[in-house]
Amino acid sequence: MLDVAVIGSGYGGAVVAARLAAHARVLLVERGGWWRPGDFPSSIGGLARSYMTTRNPGGLWAMRLGVGTGLAFASAFGGSSAINYGITAQPDDHAFDDWPLSPHDLAPWFERARRELGASADPRADELADKRVLDELEPGCRVDLENTIDWSRCDRCGRCVPGCNHGAKRSLDRTYLERAMREGVELRLRTELIDLVAVDGGYRLHLRTAGASEWVSARRVVLAAGTLGTLDLLQRSRLPLGPWFGRGLSMNGDGLAFLYDTRRQISGHSGAPISTSARLRFTDDDGRRRSLMVMSGRVPMAAMRFAAAGLAALAGVLVDRRARRDHAAGRWLRRLRDLVAVTERGALAHSFMYKLDGQDSSLGNARFTSDGAVVDWPGYTEDPIMRFARTRLHGWAERIGGLVIPDVATLPGMRSFSVHPLGGCRMGLDLADGVVDPLGRVLDPRGGVYPGLRIADGSIVRGSLGVPPSLTIAALAERIAADLQRELGQAARQTLRRAPPAPSPSR
Ligand SMILES: Cc1cc2nc3c(=O)[nH]c(=O)nc-3n(C[C@H](O)[C@H](O)[C@H](O)COP(=O)(O)OP(=O)(O)OC[C@H]3O[C@@H](n4cnc5c(N)ncnc54)[C@H](O)[C@@H]3O)c2cc1C
Ligand code: SF4
Repeated sequence: MLDVAVIGSGYGGAVVAARLAAHARVLLVERGGWWRPGDFPSSIGGLARSYMTTRNPGGLWAMRLGVGTGLAFASAFGGSSAINYGITAQPDDHAFDDWPLSPHDLAPWFERARRELGASADPRADELADKRVLDELEPGCRVDLENTIDWSRCDRCGRCVPGCNHGAKRSLDRTYLERAMREGVELRLRTELIDLVAVDGGYRLHLRTAGASEWVSARRVVLAAGTLGTLDLLQRSRLPLGPWFGRGLSMNGDGLAFLYDTRRQISGHSGAPISTSARLRFTDDDGRRRSLMVMSGRVPMAAMRFAAAGLAALAGVLVDRRARRDHAAGRWLRRLRDLVAVTERGALAHSFMYKLDGQDSSLGNARFTSDGAVVDWPGYTEDPIMRFARTRLHGWAERIGGLVIPDVATLPGMRSFSVHPLGGCRMGLDLADGVVDPLGRVLDPRGGVYPGLRIADGSIVRGSLGVPPSLTIAALAERIAADLQRELGQAARQTLRRAPPAPSPSR
């Protein structure tokens, strides 16, 4: 019997596997494959072909569409670290205001995770025009970011999403998972956990690899299948759970906005990872302090730039009545130029694409469909964080011109997309407050906790963080892993005490 089975190899699962592998027999189960530099899609066609479906279970990424929301995530060794921007940021202290853990409790775990992830600031960030523009628009609010990127190998192609083909990104397979493998973790890739059943002394796990099924047993299970994956697994397990299960989900204030064709040359489309931001804070009408991080986004890859140019020009034609009335033919020429080729002279070079991360009100609810959990939140675009972002963006447009597309979700046929779904199994003091306790142990409505069952991924994050969440998930997992290590040590000592005394050599 295994000591620990860890399900999922994203920021939660990778940390737990790395910290426990040296102390126990640990199996790491991951549905996705190992995507290495050179394997990642580099065209729209490649992106479409790598979409995960039932007919393409080895796909790299997928989306789930709910009412008012769309969520994107990866299925890969390393979870979404395979396709993310590698931004590593710690939330403001007030993000933890209603948590059962204080920023002080979490400080050493943040430090530990930060060290292992090895993020650093872009040494060439000063060359980016968007820094100057952010300084002009939000004086004193700019904060440069740290990314899990080996800058000496980064050729600034701007294709971190959907995956670095240059070997520059320090995704989890090069940090925590490398450590887990060194420490002897048993690895099962392209293997999906279908179901788990509680039995005496542990759990039976139903695994499926390339259509073949098998059952394994483990004394402890750590669910780290990502927010939606863990919701799916718990729903399938039919284990009774508290009233917060599937409730209080956050989009982490995720949004995508454009300030199109301004008076400043920004070159926002040029290929560099997202390395700078403005961190804004405000108090909402209910007296709650909230943060909004505005990052100058990047259009992911060459082919997408053309699509973005087309979209932006279309939006300009459809929406920008003011431009239609006031602007000279030269301005339109600039816009149309992008449709042929994106250059420094085009409208896109005068545009900002904003990636927003903020503290939303965490009012999403999970709905379970035949494809798995989706999140419904019809009023997301009117959440205080989105309204604040819109006001700010319009203020910027007053100063440097440009057409505001405040949230792509407001364009016809679009919805709010998030790559940071959080919650659904939130951490709390008791059942009236959450689904897991502050050590990730799953609370049993019949009393106590389910022995040996923990969750260590984005689903336990208690509401929005206002910054990209990977570092927080890793820090929480570090804390959970340390407690598991202590528990494994205790179990080993008890086994030794129960064992019959070793025969003495003289007998
Ligand atoms: C495009 C994109 C860009 C992002 N950019 C950033 C960024 O720059 N900075 C940042 O902090 N965050 C970023 N994020 C978000 C961040 O990557 C996620 O919040 C984080 O990866 C979540 O970690 P996790 O451990 O909860 O789950 P995940 O990383 O989602 O990992 C879960 C893993 O579990 C596996 N799994 C699911 N179900 C099963 C099953 N039944 N059996 C076996 N395995 C299973 C999945 O295949 C997946 O690999 C981004 C995300 C995306 C998609
Ligand atoms: S900009 Fe290009 S080379 Fe640099 S980390 Fe991103 S994908 Fe890799």
